Amino acid sequence: MKLALFNDNRLGVVVDDSTIVDVTAALPQHDTGLGAGFWVRLCRDFAELRPAIESAVSTGPRHTLTEVELGAPVLNPTKVIAAASNYTEHIEEMSDKGLPEWMLESDVFLKAPSSIVGQGPITLPALDAEIHYECELAFVIGKGGKDIPVESALEHVFGWTILLDITERGKGDRSRRKSYDGFTPIGPWVVTADEVDSWQDMAIVMRLNDIVRQDVRAGDMLVSVPQIIANASRVMTLNPGDVITTGAPPGVGKIESGDRIDAKISGIGQLLIDVR
Ligand code: MN
Repeated sequence: MKLALFNDNRLGVVVDDSTIVDVTAALPQHDTGLGAGFWVRLCRDFAELRPAIESAVSTGPRHTLTEVELGAPVLNPTKVIAAASNYTEHIEEMSDKGLPEWMLESDVFLKAPSSIVGQGPITLPALDAEIHYECELAFVIGKGGKDIPVESALEHVFGWTILLDITERGKGDRSRRKSYDGFTPIGPWVVTADEVDSWQDMAIVMRLNDIVRQDVRAGDMLVSVPQIIANASRVMTLNPGDVITTGAPPGVGKIESGDRIDAKISGIGQLLIDVR
């Protein structure tokens, strides 16, 4: 199921390439106000809510995707966790830029949730440094946990999405350089975990102004999705709705005003971002 948030946080299911069905009425308390935490509860309780959502797909109001405003398909995550240095050739390209050793080692860091935006233009801050795109496979946590074992880690994935880890290159703290407002576009929707047989086979293809810049298979990453979940949850409790992104494939580069980012991941969809 492709779950999206649209028109000020209504819940939608995308049923084909052009149609979204409003299934908000399937959510508990939808008639008395959903409250700030409804998305997080949906991530946590999806198995329970799924039948009602499925039946709302046949009865809910339908819109063409072009007539609604899609938001990021995440709401109020307690954190955005990002894997660093997770593809060999990306580590090599960054090593060529003279980064310190520690930054080339596998790790996780945090991005501010306030940097999240949905499909649509982003406005770059005025900085002296270059601003780069990194197109990454990301996922949303369903069932939370601490010290999650690798073997059962995938059971904690609610669904999959596309994330752009926009980055100010240069010296200084990684989390700050990646946390400017608008530096975390996510979308266009979340594909629930049951629809992805093998995350390793997803093809990540990112075009900048129609030229392919990143093109990998997710399975090429060094630290696997289950291992990232295990590693991150050894440090911090993963909460329902948290976002984890899996690291930049090789081919990162500069973006400027006027650019168009076209990020595609097979089995998920396409995230289009205009840069202003
Ligand atoms: Mn990244």
